[in-house]
Amino acid sequence: MSSSGAEPSIFSRIIDRQIPATIVAETDRLIAFEDIAPKAPVHVVITTKDPQYRNVVELAAGDPALLADLVGLARQIAAERTNGQFRLVFNTGEAAGQTVFHVHAHVLGSPTASETLG
Ligand code: ADP
Repeated sequence: MSSSGAEPSIFSRIIDRQIPATIVAETDRLIAFEDIAPKAPVHVVITTKDPQYRNVVELAAGDPALLADLVGLARQIAAERTNGQFRLVFNTGEAAGQTVFHVHAHVLGSPTASETLG
């Protein structure tokens, strides 16, 4: 199940393979895919398969172990794709730039040690 009555988010449609995405990692409860409009040389989105949490505040309150798993997956993706350092961004709320209300993190980084993020 990827929706709870409301219109499925764009991410639920990716999870259900209804629209294509370049999936880079998947666990039983999380999925990671390349952002369609990258804002850094490496830009991966990690989201929960369960769409019930709209943002990271709700996820932290409702399922902190899943949030910890998400951070661990970000570290793993960064170890494989960036110079080992990364930004982990959770836009939280419309005024903060959140457009998809299905909790997700942006993993942003550079593949080489010489590149820095602005
Ligand atoms: P913002 O759009 O301001 O970054 P969010 O934090 O809600 O707000 O992030 C949604 C992200 O999802 C954006 O970075 C956007 O490029 C990405 N995105 C939207 N649709 C797709 C898609 N079909 N495949 C991959 N990434 C997508």
